[in-house]
Amino acid sequence: MKQIAITGGKGGTGKSTVATALAVELGKSHKVLLVDADVDCPNDHLLLGIERKPLKKVFQRIPKWDFEKCIKCGKCAEACKINSIFAPKGKQPVFLPQQCNGCGACVITCPAKAIGWSEKEIGEVFKGKGYGIDFISGELKINEAVSEFVVASLKEEVEKIKESYDFVLFDTAAGTHCDVISALEGSKMALAVTEPTPLGEHDLELIMKLLKKLGIKFEIILNRFEKGGKKIIENSAERQGKTIAAKIPYSKKIMESYSKGIPVSHESIKAIAELVK
Ligand code: SF4
Ligand code: SF4
Repeated sequence: MKQIAITGGKGGTGKSTVATALAVELGKSHKVLLVDADVDCPNDHLLLGIERKPLKKVFQRIPKWDFEKCIKCGKCAEACKINSIFAPKGKQPVFLPQQCNGCGACVITCPAKAIGWSEKEIGEVFKGKGYGIDFISGELKINEAVSEFVVASLKEEVEKIKESYDFVLFDTAAGTHCDVISALEGSKMALAVTEPTPLGEHDLELIMKLLKKLGIKFEIILNRFEKGGKKIIENSAERQGKTIAAKIPYSKKIMESYSKGIPVSHESIKAIAELVK
């Protein structure tokens, strides 16, 4: 089994387009599992036109108050560093569950042992099939903030089945935050997808720094490449001692595939497939 991450410092660079197209290309001759780990905004199933089926719900622990025991001291609100508890002096605390990350500081701090645990549903893991590949994705519910539990739950499911595949492709969220790091862990190789803009250059440098820090070998994929355009990414890659491993052109045909929910088929995707084999 070879685990590969498709990532990028910036959103909207075509990371999911590359991940889905690569999965379909590799799926022609190998057993492939595509993992959509962008739990805030999963869209691989839309790009592939795959219907997802629920696999499991994701829950997070949250505190629960026994107001009979509460002595209205306000210490739980002081202990909560993200202001999930509002406790005016001499009044019962008010809990704002959307912000809560389940850290437990309020439970430990309460001198009256008035706080126990409950749980709330914060997301779901889905599975699906299509174009000869298996698919799994996580999704955080709207208005929930703690996405790392959904990523962890998704990874738990992947761990159970990954050894039965030739390739496991992790499509990560954009950026360099905790969810991205969690999705990158375990990958032997990463594809950093970027676009030829100053923002693309800036965010590519951030993701390259992260991948180097994590010790993950990576290749740069330049999306929306235009012949004769500015060599922003080429120059940036050169400064890091890298070359561009593949260039996906800016083309009407590719844009049409994208908008119709059909995986992109192009020579550049075939070249990326050869690169990761
Ligand atoms: S569990 Fe942590 S984040 Fe949630 S309310 Fe208590 S102190 Fe705040
Ligand atoms: S710390 Fe405990 S006793 Fe004090 S206000 Fe909070 S719940 Fe009530």
